[in-house]
Amino acid sequence: MAETKRKRGRPRKNPETVADTPVKQAKRRGRPPKNKAQGAADAAKNLVYKTENAWDIKSMVENRIEKFSKGYKAFLDKAKTEREFVREAEELAIRNGFVDLDKVLSEKTPLNPGDKVYRIIKKKLMMLAVIGEKPCEDGTRMVGAHIDSPRVDIKQNPLYESTDMVFMKTHYYGGIKKYQWLAIPLALHGTIMKADGSVIDVSIGEDPDDPVFVITDLLPHLAKDQFEKKLGEAFKGEDMNVLVGSRPDPDKEAKDRFKLNILKILNQKYGITEEDFVSSELEMVPAFKAQDLGFDRSMIGAYGHDDRVCAYPALMAILDTGKPEYTAVCVLTDKEEIGSVGNTGAQSRALENFLADLCALTTKGEYSDRLLRSCLAKSKMLSADVNAAVDPNFEGTHDKLNAAYLGKGLAILKFSGSRGKSGASDAHAEFVGEIRRLFNENQIPWHTTELGAVDKGGGGTIAMMIANLGVDVIDVGVPVLSMHAPYEVVSKVDVYAAYRGYHVFLK
Ligand code: MN
Ligand code: MN
Repeated sequence: MAETKRKRGRPRKNPETVADTPVKQAKRRGRPPKNKAQGAADAAKNLVYKTENAWDIKSMVENRIEKFSKGYKAFLDKAKTEREFVREAEELAIRNGFVDLDKVLSEKTPLNPGDKVYRIIKKKLMMLAVIGEKPCEDGTRMVGAHIDSPRVDIKQNPLYESTDMVFMKTHYYGGIKKYQWLAIPLALHGTIMKADGSVIDVSIGEDPDDPVFVITDLLPHLAKDQFEKKLGEAFKGEDMNVLVGSRPDPDKEAKDRFKLNILKILNQKYGITEEDFVSSELEMVPAFKAQDLGFDRSMIGAYGHDDRVCAYPALMAILDTGKPEYTAVCVLTDKEEIGSVGNTGAQSRALENFLADLCALTTKGEYSDRLLRSCLAKSKMLSADVNAAVDPNFEGTHDKLNAAYLGKGLAILKFSGSRGKSGASDAHAEFVGEIRRLFNENQIPWHTTELGAVDKGGGGTIAMMIANLGVDVIDVGVPVLSMHAPYEVVSKVDVYAAYRGYHVFLK
């Protein structure tokens, strides 16, 4: 790491002064020249790689950080699931002049630089683009984040009663520590398709007047056996049943009258029957609201920062993109937490299809598949996903020289994977260099990271799927504490750094 000049202040106005000696500079400013020892210390400063706390950086303006955080918190409360994120994002996109790409296609109108389009797949995956000055076959600049979060899904035949109480069976989604989801208030979000084909959206537990739900936990007094078990074995997925009722139907002769009472309530409110659960997607998510955290209000505590803390800044960055040199793209994918699978995940052809259509609508000649191939090979992406911040409560999990920290801005992760870099997406040094230069030139705070110490675990993002397309891709995201817990923590200054970093990359 030789070249570590990290220009954090404003660029110099007079280029001649760059060649000045420290002595000349000091004289001009009317200060006595520094002594030799001081000069040597200054020289050493330029030789070592040093990270700075982002709150100390001038370009990170306090009231802009606060304003951006406010918007983010409000968005978090409105969009707790992938469907809700897409719904809110579409509204914002339309308000900012984005047009449905399929409408453009059906009208066969060509796209011009500055034009804004979007596409939504199955209400869970969204892509947005601002057409650049250069044709799409010259490549794009993309920011890709995911909008699904770990949670507890309701099974397709969920309801049963036991000991005069009613429960719903669940199947957890994503990598969770099961005990964290017990004994906290849960809200029910999702969609039900009824027998007649009509669809209803459900959200219970967010309004202060709403009821909430809970997966109960065992009292410590009777937990002797539980305490002796290994953490991974003490809590069983099949036992994560949510408590949803305990009042009987008045008909004392009725069978399962506690469950019947719940079915009657659901039928009254939503017009659904028990069979309708079969064609539903219902998610139990923490009922908490996003909130300032700490005496100094420097952080935000919320459910699902992973990965909305990158997805929201990415969305804001593309909404604020005018007429870029290269076509700017924002990709918001689903199913990342379970391997980016399915036709709404990053492994699907959705992005290729989207870019193919952009190529077709921006080329002056005939569309051919080679335009898309060229576009992919020349495209670059910031994979915007969270990183595990060092937590002083849990020593030994990180190599502190190569770790993400709260408050140091964007975490640049050259490679992911586990053990011997197995399954890693490894960005090329040249691309890392490009991003480092871009961030330094724009005073975007960043630091280099690895996902935990060697052999301590590991992980991946959508980066590897995107890299398979030929795209240069690197993970650049926000450090998080308590990742995948129902209540995660981020620093406000890092959230704003993400917005600024993604914006300079896209514009
Ligand atoms: Mn993630
Ligand atoms: Mn995750």
